[in-house]
Amino acid sequence: MDIKKNDVFTVQIEDMSEDGAGIGKLDGYIWFIKDAVIGDVVEAKAMKMKKSYGFARLMKVVEPSPHRVEPKCPVARQCGGCQLQALSYEEQLKFKEQKVYNNLVRIGKFDNVVHALDETVDIGAKSAGSCGKPIRFLPIMGMDEPWRYRNKAQFPFGKDRNGEIVTGFYAGRTHDIIENEDCLLGVESNRPILDKIKSYMKQCGVEPYDEETHRGLVRHALIRVGFKTGEIMVCLVINGIKLPEESVLVDSLKEIEGMTSISYSVNRDKTNVIMGKDIVNLYGPGYITDYIGDVKYRISPLSFYQVNPVQTEKLYSTALEYAGLTGGETVWDLYCGIGTISLFLAQKAKKVYGVEIVPEAIADARENAKINGINNVEFYVGKAEEVLPEQYEKEGIYADVIVVDPPRKGCDELCLDTIVKMSPKRVVYVSCDSATLARDLRYLADRGYEVEKVRCCDMFGHSSHVETVVLLNREIKKNDD
Ligand code: SAH
Repeated sequence: MDIKKNDVFTVQIEDMSEDGAGIGKLDGYIWFIKDAVIGDVVEAKAMKMKKSYGFARLMKVVEPSPHRVEPKCPVARQCGGCQLQALSYEEQLKFKEQKVYNNLVRIGKFDNVVHALDETVDIGAKSAGSCGKPIRFLPIMGMDEPWRYRNKAQFPFGKDRNGEIVTGFYAGRTHDIIENEDCLLGVESNRPILDKIKSYMKQCGVEPYDEETHRGLVRHALIRVGFKTGEIMVCLVINGIKLPEESVLVDSLKEIEGMTSISYSVNRDKTNVIMGKDIVNLYGPGYITDYIGDVKYRISPLSFYQVNPVQTEKLYSTALEYAGLTGGETVWDLYCGIGTISLFLAQKAKKVYGVEIVPEAIADARENAKINGINNVEFYVGKAEEVLPEQYEKEGIYADVIVVDPPRKGCDELCLDTIVKMSPKRVVYVSCDSATLARDLRYLADRGYEVEKVRCCDMFGHSSHVETVVLLNREIKKNDD
């Protein structure tokens, strides 16, 4: 191959990588080209080259893919947030399904995954090989409206070349602020809130934070909205312990409909971590409230809460359906976070046990159980791979159903081993990384579990992320009920 750095070449995009970059091939050499979509013919400039693959910058779309659309957001390319805006939403969904399917086949070595339109359509007894009964791969749950779905945004503050206060997003992989107060994934009320914060800063001589000099006060604004309640929270992250003339800010923000909680967070560290540990309340109860399904959640500036509540409800309802509860079951919810799934399950189970490593999340989970009057849940702080084996060895705990919702790295082997030993009838696996999902499903499939069905859910439209929920059944043994 005779392409050198900075050479411009033409290539057809044949595939897309896991993280949404276009993939083209020239003489067997693979090019990753961000912002190019499958089906495009593009001109690209070679930027960085390794032995068998390289990265190139998209210069010009020579022939657009039939699935290419004009990104709605004017700064889609500079801002690192959306990788797939140039692909039609329909194709984004197909891309995500394909990614999960491919991982099941390649990493999980399942040769029996069959696309099925619904739960009932006959997928035959296809046993394409060694993997047993066919696995039903159901259609992805897409969004009705893939814009303005995020209930949370964190805007960095800085200054532009003319010394004006700006806010927006960091450009991909950098800390340069791209001015944009109206990210199309966020709610419309973000813009007037940011305008009010900027006006307050100008009026009261409050400077934005400068990372290089570690001076200036306002670092970020965290804005959260309860989609079902309309309640809004604003929390300014500051490099100091006090906000000057805070009443000017509070009075101005209160004019926004739904404003429920105003606070600031003290973060004086030289760090990329956005939020500081201490929160100082300026107005309201210190939290907002929202609902997923019928379950009420109290959200404070530091609590975790799913950012797309509409799709979360679909995903967790599916997990609940797959759990197949009738009211008498004992259920373990591993990696339970603030207990979103646990509280969902508790409505239909006899008893739910949640396990989570972050103590603050468990404090929220307990609080959320209390405000909903849910008494049949119990939460443990600790690692799933430690708490579960310990409880199993010592207490001989039992489970009819185990639900897991691990972080990207998937489940620890010790945790999977204990699940196998506990031998629940069903395992429901909720995953945000289909590669580790496929690995873990293979592990369980080799130890007595059959994958029955798989369904993806799009929680993060225009990004390359996809969530998946899977039902596994224990293979029927003799003397089983
Ligand atoms: N279902 C949860 C979100 C799960 S995200 C909710 O809706 O709130 C994955 C969670 O696993 C995170 O909360 C993370 O803190 C937790 N976690 C990470 N490693 C863990 C481990 N080894 N054991 C238990 N929990 C863990």
